[in-house]
Amino acid sequence: MSIEITGIDKRFGDFVALDDVSLSIPSGQLTALLGPSGGGKSTLMRIIAGLEVADAGTVVIEGTEATHLPPQKRNVGFVFQHYAAFKHMTVAKNVAFGLEIRKRPRAEVKAKVEELLDLVHLRQFAHRLPSQLSGGQRQRMALARALAVEPSVLLLDEPFGALDAKVRKELRDWLRRLHDEVHVTTVFVTHDQEEALEVADEIVVINEGRIEQVGAPDVLYDEPANEFVMSFLGEVT
Ligand code: ADP
Ligand code: MG
Repeated sequence: MSIEITGIDKRFGDFVALDDVSLSIPSGQLTALLGPSGGGKSTLMRIIAGLEVADAGTVVIEGTEATHLPPQKRNVGFVFQHYAAFKHMTVAKNVAFGLEIRKRPRAEVKAKVEELLDLVHLRQFAHRLPSQLSGGQRQRMALARALAVEPSVLLLDEPFGALDAKVRKELRDWLRRLHDEVHVTTVFVTHDQEEALEVADEIVVINEGRIEQVGAPDVLYDEPANEFVMSFLGEVT
């Protein structure tokens, strides 16, 4: 089981955003999608999530042919750079939302929300409003909310991009620990080489709509496939 992406093309008018992208992401792995701005990372994530329709190619998610499924049928959790919280709802209510619209029993929702708030270390903030959290705490809340419906795949598009360097570093370590606990198949987008190298089991380097290399962090470092990968990783500060 895995995410299997085959022959994906995506054009916006005459502009080619993704050019024959094929990729296999093993189940339970924390994969970083790394590359410069405009390379097609978000477009590929949106196609996996079903938020964008590809011009060609197929997406199979954990054994289910998903190419033509709407987002809500894909069992995918999504966290974006700018958190989207319901401002008038408490942290607990925000996390519970996906379960409540699925009409899960009250006791089940309560237990699940407590478990998730423990997982993201926000239990003591359950009754606060999102505006009373720090930026890092809000992104942890967004993660808990995405995990609430037990997605088979978690997609994180620059989830820490808007935060300052210190908080980003904390969250990156925390994401690694969370993943080691939950083991959900996770694709994590970043343009930050250091973040990808530190967090990911495997890194997919994408540039100008094409995959340059796929490999574990040490493989990319020791055996960069081409000049692009070498110079891009070389920019680590
Ligand atoms: P990344 O996330 O790697 O920065 P994106 O996937 O957001 O890159 O974008 C890839 C390219 O596709 C960019 O040049 C962007 O301007 C273009 N693009 C993305 N979405 C659209 C859209 N809806 N309409 C037109 N161009 C788009
Ligand atoms: Mg992007």
